[in-house]
Amino acid sequence: MTENGLRQHLLATARAMNSQGLNQGTSGNVSVRNGEGFVITPSALPYDRCTPEDMVRVDWSGQPQGSRKPSSEWRMHRDIYCQYPQAGAVLHAHSLYCTTLACLERSIPAFHYMVAMAGGDSIRCAPYATFGTQALSDAVIQALDNRSAALLAHHGMICFAADLDQVLALAVEVETLARIYLQALQITEPSVLPDAEMAEVLLLFKGYKA
Ligand code: 13P
Ligand code: ZN
Repeated sequence: MTENGLRQHLLATARAMNSQGLNQGTSGNVSVRNGEGFVITPSALPYDRCTPEDMVRVDWSGQPQGSRKPSSEWRMHRDIYCQYPQAGAVLHAHSLYCTTLACLERSIPAFHYMVAMAGGDSIRCAPYATFGTQALSDAVIQALDNRSAALLAHHGMICFAADLDQVLALAVEVETLARIYLQALQITEPSVLPDAEMAEVLLLFKGYKA
Protein backbone atom coordinates (compact mmCIF):
# COMPACT_ATOMS: atom_id res chain seq x y z
CA MET A 1 0.00 0.00 0.00
CA THR A 2 1.19 3.55 -0.77
CA GLU A 3 1.85 6.06 2.02
CA ASN A 4 -1.30 7.97 1.01
CA GLY A 5 -3.37 4.77 0.88
CA LEU A 6 -2.21 3.90 4.39
CA ARG A 7 -3.10 7.38 5.68
CA GLN A 8 -6.53 7.20 4.02
CA HIS A 9 -7.23 3.79 5.58
CA LEU A 10 -6.15 5.07 9.02
CA LEU A 11 -8.42 8.13 8.77
CA ALA A 12 -11.34 5.97 7.56
CA THR A 13 -10.85 3.68 10.58
CA ALA A 14 -10.79 6.66 12.98
CA ARG A 15 -14.02 7.97 11.43
CA ALA A 16 -15.62 4.50 11.55
CA MET A 17 -14.74 4.29 15.25
CA ASN A 18 -16.96 7.36 15.82
CA SER A 19 -19.74 6.50 13.32
CA GLN A 20 -20.04 2.99 14.81
CA GLY A 21 -20.60 4.51 18.25
CA LEU A 22 -17.30 3.33 19.71
CA ASN A 23 -16.02 6.81 20.39
CA GLN A 24 -17.05 10.44 20.47
CA GLY A 25 -15.46 13.80 19.71
CA THR A 26 -11.67 13.85 19.70
CA SER A 27 -11.38 11.12 22.34
CA GLY A 28 -9.61 7.96 21.30
CA ASN A 29 -6.89 7.38 18.72
CA VAL A 30 -5.83 4.80 16.15
CA SER A 31 -2.50 3.86 14.59
CA VAL A 32 -1.01 1.49 12.04
CA ARG A 33 2.50 -0.02 12.03
CA ASN A 34 4.59 0.96 9.02
CA GLY A 35 8.32 0.73 8.30
CA GLU A 36 10.53 2.08 11.08
CA GLY A 37 7.61 3.21 13.23
CA PHE A 38 3.89 3.84 12.91
CA VAL A 39 1.33 6.36 11.63
CA ILE A 40 -1.14 7.70 14.23
CA THR A 41 -4.11 10.07 14.37
CA PRO A 42 -3.24 13.65 15.35
CA SER A 43 -3.95 15.02 18.85
CA ALA A 44 -7.16 16.96 19.53
CA LEU A 45 -8.23 17.26 15.87
CA PRO A 46 -11.79 16.10 14.96
CA TYR A 47 -11.55 13.23 12.47
CA ASP A 48 -14.22 14.68 10.16
CA ARG A 49 -12.00 17.75 9.68
CA CYS A 50 -8.81 15.75 9.09
CA THR A 51 -7.24 14.90 5.74
CA PRO A 52 -4.85 11.96 5.21
CA GLU A 53 -1.95 14.46 5.44
CA ASP A 54 -2.93 15.21 9.07
CA MET A 55 -2.06 11.65 10.13
CA VAL A 56 1.34 11.72 11.92
CA ARG A 57 4.30 9.42 11.29
CA VAL A 58 6.22 8.62 14.50
CA ASP A 59 9.47 6.64 14.75
CA TRP A 60 10.33 4.14 17.51
CA SER A 61 12.05 6.85 19.56
CA GLY A 62 8.79 8.84 19.57
CA GLN A 63 10.02 11.48 17.14
CA PRO A 64 7.10 12.78 15.01
CA GLN A 65 7.43 13.95 11.39
CA GLY A 66 5.63 17.01 10.00
CA SER A 67 3.80 19.87 11.68
CA ARG A 68 0.91 18.00 13.34
CA LYS A 69 1.14 16.83 16.97
CA PRO A 70 0.74 13.04 17.28
CA SER A 71 -1.94 11.64 19.61
CA SER A 72 -1.00 12.24 23.23
CA GLU A 73 -1.20 8.46 23.67
CA TRP A 74 1.62 7.69 21.18
CA ARG A 75 3.60 6.00 23.99
CA MET A 76 0.91 3.34 24.53
CA HIS A 77 0.83 2.67 20.77
CA ARG A 78 4.64 2.59 20.44
CA ASP A 79 5.06 0.30 23.44
CA ILE A 80 2.43 -2.17 22.15
CA TYR A 81 4.19 -2.41 18.75
CA CYS A 82 7.51 -2.98 20.49
CA GLN A 83 6.11 -5.62 22.86
CA TYR A 84 3.95 -7.50 20.35
CA PRO A 85 5.45 -8.15 16.89
CA GLN A 86 2.04 -9.42 15.69
CA ALA A 87 0.45 -6.01 16.36
CA GLY A 88 -0.18 -4.23 13.06
CA ALA A 89 -2.75 -1.71 14.34
CA VAL A 90 -3.75 -0.27 17.74
CA LEU A 91 -7.06 1.39 18.71
CA HIS A 92 -7.88 3.31 21.89
CA ALA A 93 -11.46 4.48 22.57
CA HIS A 94 -13.67 5.86 25.30
CA SER A 95 -16.50 3.50 24.31
CA LEU A 96 -19.45 3.80 26.69
CA TYR A 97 -19.81 0.28 28.08
CA CYS A 98 -16.08 -0.46 28.39
CA THR A 99 -15.60 2.91 30.03
CA THR A 100 -18.46 2.31 32.48
CA LEU A 101 -16.78 -0.91 33.65
CA ALA A 102 -13.39 0.84 33.69
CA CYS A 103 -14.83 3.57 35.94
CA LEU A 104 -15.78 0.81 38.37
CA GLU A 105 -12.21 -0.61 37.99
CA ARG A 106 -13.73 -3.92 36.89
CA SER A 107 -12.17 -6.44 34.52
CA ILE A 108 -14.35 -8.57 32.22
CA PRO A 109 -14.25 -12.21 33.40
CA ALA A 110 -14.97 -15.32 31.29
CA PHE A 111 -18.74 -14.88 31.64
CA HIS A 112 -19.08 -15.47 27.85
CA TYR A 113 -16.81 -17.60 25.67
CA MET A 114 -16.15 -14.66 23.29
CA VAL A 115 -13.90 -13.12 25.95
CA ALA A 116 -11.29 -15.46 24.41
CA MET A 117 -11.27 -13.17 21.33
CA ALA A 118 -8.92 -10.96 23.36
CA GLY A 119 -6.50 -13.86 23.83
CA GLY A 120 -7.28 -15.15 27.34
CA ASP A 121 -9.89 -15.89 29.98
CA SER A 122 -10.43 -12.25 31.00
CA ILE A 123 -10.04 -8.71 29.76
CA ARG A 124 -8.11 -6.97 32.53
CA CYS A 125 -8.56 -3.43 33.75
CA ALA A 126 -5.26 -1.50 34.02
CA PRO A 127 -4.91 0.77 37.08
CA TYR A 128 -5.44 4.50 36.56
CA ALA A 129 -2.64 6.77 35.42
CA THR A 130 -2.82 10.22 33.79
CA PHE A 131 -3.56 10.19 30.05
CA GLY A 132 -0.56 10.43 27.74
CA THR A 133 1.99 9.38 30.38
CA GLN A 134 4.60 6.63 30.35
CA ALA A 135 3.01 5.44 33.62
CA LEU A 136 -0.25 4.79 31.75
CA SER A 137 1.58 2.97 28.98
CA ASP A 138 3.43 0.81 31.52
CA ALA A 139 0.15 -0.08 33.27
CA VAL A 140 -1.44 -0.96 29.91
CA ILE A 141 1.45 -3.20 28.85
CA GLN A 142 1.11 -5.11 32.14
CA ALA A 143 -2.67 -5.50 31.76
CA LEU A 144 -2.16 -6.72 28.19
CA ASP A 145 0.12 -9.60 29.20
CA ASN A 146 -0.97 -12.43 26.86
CA ARG A 147 -4.00 -10.40 25.78
CA SER A 148 -4.93 -8.16 22.86
CA ALA A 149 -7.40 -5.93 24.74
CA ALA A 150 -7.57 -4.17 28.11
CA LEU A 151 -9.71 -1.64 29.94
CA LEU A 152 -8.08 1.52 31.37
CA ALA A 153 -9.45 2.47 34.79
CA HIS A 154 -11.43 5.75 34.80
CA HIS A 155 -10.57 6.21 31.12
CA GLY A 156 -11.53 3.70 28.37
CA MET A 157 -10.26 0.70 26.46
CA ILE A 158 -7.40 -0.31 24.14
CA CYS A 159 -6.84 -3.21 21.76
CA PHE A 160 -4.51 -4.33 19.00
CA ALA A 161 -4.75 -6.69 16.02
CA ALA A 162 -2.92 -7.60 12.83
CA ASP A 163 -4.43 -4.75 10.77
CA LEU A 164 -6.82 -1.78 10.88
CA ASP A 165 -9.96 -3.69 9.87
CA GLN A 166 -9.32 -6.40 12.46
CA VAL A 167 -8.61 -3.91 15.25
CA LEU A 168 -11.91 -2.13 14.59
CA ALA A 169 -13.76 -5.47 14.63
CA LEU A 170 -12.08 -6.46 17.90
CA ALA A 171 -12.98 -3.12 19.50
CA VAL A 172 -16.64 -3.66 18.51
CA GLU A 173 -16.49 -7.17 20.00
CA VAL A 174 -14.97 -6.01 23.30
CA GLU A 175 -17.52 -3.19 23.57
CA THR A 176 -20.35 -5.70 22.95
CA LEU A 177 -18.99 -7.98 25.68
CA ALA A 178 -18.80 -5.04 28.10
CA ARG A 179 -22.41 -4.17 27.28
CA ILE A 180 -23.66 -7.72 27.85
CA TYR A 181 -21.64 -8.03 31.05
CA LEU A 182 -23.12 -4.78 32.40
CA GLN A 183 -26.62 -5.94 31.44
CA ALA A 184 -26.10 -9.24 33.27
CA LEU A 185 -24.78 -7.36 36.31
CA GLN A 186 -28.14 -5.56 36.55
CA ILE A 187 -29.59 -8.88 37.68
CA THR A 188 -26.66 -10.63 39.34
CA GLU A 189 -22.93 -11.37 38.92
CA PRO A 190 -22.89 -13.96 36.11
CA SER A 191 -21.05 -17.24 36.64
CA VAL A 192 -17.80 -17.75 34.74
CA LEU A 193 -16.86 -20.58 32.39
CA PRO A 194 -14.42 -23.16 33.80
CA ASP A 195 -10.69 -22.73 32.99
CA ALA A 196 -10.67 -25.97 30.95
CA GLU A 197 -13.55 -24.71 28.79
CA MET A 198 -11.84 -21.39 28.09
CA ALA A 199 -8.63 -23.28 27.23
CA GLU A 200 -10.65 -25.32 24.72
CA VAL A 201 -12.22 -22.18 23.20
CA LEU A 202 -8.80 -20.50 22.92
CA LEU A 203 -7.57 -23.54 21.02
CA LEU A 204 -10.60 -23.48 18.70
CA PHE A 205 -10.11 -19.75 18.02
CA LYS A 206 -6.58 -20.46 16.74
CA GLY A 207 -8.16 -22.40 13.84
CA TYR A 208 -11.30 -20.22 13.48
CA LYS A 209 -10.78 -18.72 10.02
CA ALA A 210 -12.99 -18.30 6.95
P1 13P B 1 -5.55 12.58 21.58
O1 13P B 1 -6.54 13.54 20.92
O2 13P B 1 -4.26 13.24 21.95
O3 13P B 1 -5.39 11.32 20.74
O4 13P B 1 -6.16 12.15 22.99
C1 13P B 1 -7.37 11.48 23.11
C2 13P B 1 -7.37 10.52 24.24
O5 13P B 1 -8.20 9.63 24.25
C3 13P B 1 -6.38 10.64 25.36
O6 13P B 1 -6.43 9.52 26.18
ZN1 ZN C 1 -8.21 8.34 26.02
